[in-house]
Amino acid sequence: MDGTMTNSWTIEDSKKLYRIQDWGTPYFSINDKGNIVVFPQGDSQVSLDLFDLVKSLEKRNIKPPLIIRFPEILSDRINRLNKCFETAIKRYGYQGTYQGVYPIKCNPHRHLVENVVQFGQPYNFGLEVGSKPELMIALAVLDNPKTYQKEDSKPLLICNGYKDQEYIETALLAQCLGKQSVIVIEQLSELSLALEISKRLEIFPVLGIRAKLNTKGCGHWENSTGERAKFGLTIPQIMEAINLLKKENRLSCLQLLHFHIGSQISSITTIKDAIREATQIYIQLVKLGASMGYLDVGGGLGVDYDGSKTNSPASKNYNMQNYANDIVAEVKEVCEGENIAMPVLISESGRSIASHQSILIFDVLSTSNCATINLKSPCQDDQLIVHDIWEIYQSISIDNYQESYHDAIQFKEEAISLFNLGHLSLLERAKIENIYWACCSNILEIIQHQNEIPEDLEDLEKSLSSVYHINLSIFQSAPDTWAIKQLFPILPIHRLNEKPTKKAILADLTCDSDGKIDHFIDFRKVKNFLELHSLETNDPDSTFSNSHSLNSLAKLPKYYIGMFLVGAYQEVMGNLHNLFGDTNLVHIIMTSNSYHIEQFIKGDTMIEVLQSLDYNAHELLEQIRLCSEKALQDKKITFAQLQLLRQNYEQSLSGYTYHAVD
Ligand SMILES: *Cc1c(COP(=O)(O)O)cnc(C)c1O
Repeated sequence: MDGTMTNSWTIEDSKKLYRIQDWGTPYFSINDKGNIVVFPQGDSQVSLDLFDLVKSLEKRNIKPPLIIRFPEILSDRINRLNKCFETAIKRYGYQGTYQGVYPIKCNPHRHLVENVVQFGQPYNFGLEVGSKPELMIALAVLDNPKTYQKEDSKPLLICNGYKDQEYIETALLAQCLGKQSVIVIEQLSELSLALEISKRLEIFPVLGIRAKLNTKGCGHWENSTGERAKFGLTIPQIMEAINLLKKENRLSCLQLLHFHIGSQISSITTIKDAIREATQIYIQLVKLGASMGYLDVGGGLGVDYDGSKTNSPASKNYNMQNYANDIVAEVKEVCEGENIAMPVLISESGRSIASHQSILIFDVLSTSNCATINLKSPCQDDQLIVHDIWEIYQSISIDNYQESYHDAIQFKEEAISLFNLGHLSLLERAKIENIYWACCSNILEIIQHQNEIPEDLEDLEKSLSSVYHINLSIFQSAPDTWAIKQLFPILPIHRLNEKPTKKAILADLTCDSDGKIDHFIDFRKVKNFLELHSLETNDPDSTFSNSHSLNSLAKLPKYYIGMFLVGAYQEVMGNLHNLFGDTNLVHIIMTSNSYHIEQFIKGDTMIEVLQSLDYNAHELLEQIRLCSEKALQDKKITFAQLQLLRQNYEQSLSGYTYHAVD
């Protein structure tokens, strides 16, 4: 790589490469030092250098892997969502209000849910629950309505999910505590149960119905709707429900229509279609005599992970204001046409509210690649095949690179066959593979300057990419990258004024070959590698270059990578694969001239992880003590060795499950 190119790299190049303006605005950018800068309040007034923050957290012994949360971003998201609906309601002259709810399942952490309730107060923002434990949270956390002036403007408590008797009883009793709970019927049996219980408790139930729309979602959650969907009532079932309510003289209980066509809806057309169908159902329910009053459009408001503003699965072809406009305009038009009162609009936006506030920071432990080591020309004693592939290597040119590539592959494969038959020594095989990789990197060098890469050479770049071993478990911290191949923006949080000279995939700490990330955001497509900076101290491309010889044990310069927009779903879906536990977590609040660490939630220790699987620390320690005593008696261990073993064992138990690197 030529030096002037390296020097001419600017932060503008990094902005373009990592697309940070596209997915990060208004919260993330790059500052003049080449570090990521965070604007927690969503404007350029207040900012914070993310790299400096991570360094200063490390000095407080708060080490990566680490989740950094910015409650102010959460607050800004809630404000924005409510402002968008406010604007739309004004603009279209909608005669109704908007009263959003936050779906707890999206990120149920205590401080986050408490923050949502607090930041949502000015808007009567409520909570949505989908299970009994979530209901327990909402019941306790949703603010006491004393603080709300009007009886009719309490925050809503929307109760979704499958319900048993206890769930329904609790949801009904919540009304006695002044909560505005709505029981959304997901299946017919719940309706009879709810009617029965409400009679017994003498509490008038407020009921909703979840409809299975015909409109299909798009992307991964496409099957959240339609006849085969897991949840909701089909149209015939809705009619059945109406009949039952009529029979029980309870039609006035039915006040809400709900639908949810899946998360991360990337196309605005799908949203519009769903709203139109749902509004028609709503109107029919009014005509059939139900009280109604609420239309709940569920979740689905997307996040633009790749910043392409398109309908690709990692993006969305609309913004929050378009979303609000389309819902408001659509419902208004249909209701007006039918001369029916416009309902209170509810959305259950989780992803769009919670994603931006969390950043996952991790460090790189080592790197590896298939690069040629110490290339030497063959000697006379080497077998013919070594000379053959060497000849290929020497003759690679722009005119024959494609042919050379296939020849090199052929010789390499032949060499392996010879080796397996015992006709080639390990040393010769090493020489051949070394030359093979040298061929590959020369060919790659050539095709990188071509306008078009021949199809048969497309994988070359991938096979030559480096592996960056990261201090993280994707199963714990970013499960969706594995489970549904979700894309998140990932980039170094410093050195962004330097050219990233490596193409890499990320391999995590688990012993699972799936524990890697090899798909990254790109414009409308997916990249199989991520551009990262060189960490090799003898690499001429690296600013860290010095004259040290290549030494795999040499300490790498510290290198930090951030995964962004990870606040929704990742934490709670993470698992203990290979026993990597929760990471450290901090909440950062800006102060007038700096920042304040509002919360520090220490990551799991090994004891905590082991105990969750029913191991007992004392018993483990005792077992080690007994074994080592026996070894001592048998003279298989020295006192010094025994001491080290026990000391490490004890320290590990109370330590972090990740690598503690200094
Ligand atoms: C998961 C879920 C949501 C949240 O969806 P997002 O796309 O994250 O906004 C809302 N409502 C229901 C019923 C859900 O199951």
